[in-house]
Amino acid sequence: EDNTPALELRGVVKTYGGEPAVAGIDLTVPAGSFYGLVGPNGAGKTTTLSMISGLLRADRGEIDVFGVEARKHPRAAKALMGVLPDRMRTFDRLTGRQLLYYFGALRGLKSRETKERIEQLAEAFELTGALARPVTDYSTGMTKKLMLACAMIHAPRLLVLDEPFESVDPVSAQKLLDVLRQYVDGGGTVILSGHSMELIERMCSRIAVLVTGQVLAEGTLDEVRGEMTLEQRFVDLS
Ligand code: ATP
Repeated sequence: EDNTPALELRGVVKTYGGEPAVAGIDLTVPAGSFYGLVGPNGAGKTTTLSMISGLLRADRGEIDVFGVEARKHPRAAKALMGVLPDRMRTFDRLTGRQLLYYFGALRGLKSRETKERIEQLAEAFELTGALARPVTDYSTGMTKKLMLACAMIHAPRLLVLDEPFESVDPVSAQKLLDVLRQYVDGGGTVILSGHSMELIERMCSRIAVLVTGQVLAEGTLDEVRGEMTLEQRFVDLS
């Protein structure tokens, strides 16, 4: 049995102008987990996910993606991941289908493979009827579903999602959640960030609580609740 985790972070540090945004993080995300990164504004969630996805370079520390050392083999590590594109504006003139083809090409898929994936993903996200329309016509929820479809075009083993439910209507959020659950049931791994503890609790098998760039608690929900209670007690006593 292969126990290689989907992600392993060791001593990861990122500093902006002397202020550490991420102050030495160790994390293990088991393969097949639905992993939540929670914490208040400015806790370092976006910075951490950006280092994982390779958008940002860590000042210090190591990140392994399914055992691949991202620092040494960035392209191999990135090929294993799907990341939500955060700038749709550049693609405004494209239709949903054209955008999906673009991401398929970026990921090196043959156009026939891309076509098949587009059909599967459009059906899963209930976007089939919207594919011929320009993405400017999409609602926020539809845009987010399309972006997740783009992230999944090459059937990555890991999805790295920064606040995927942010400002998404409840119906679209449920659809995103359904697709992500199916992805995890099929052996995929998800790491996502969020503010809402309630939403994260509903879906994640493990969570890490980040505060001021450090991991305050980590584990299953029950484990974290236990640790948080200790932490709370500590705060009350101090
Ligand atoms: P949010 O939920 O608000 O997105 P977050 O947990 O994702 O918060 P980060 O965005 O990672 O937190 O920010 C962590 C810290 O790093 C914050 O103090 C933030 O002000 C700082 N920071 C983030 N990006 C930059 C940057 N490009 N330049 C300077 N400081 C930054």
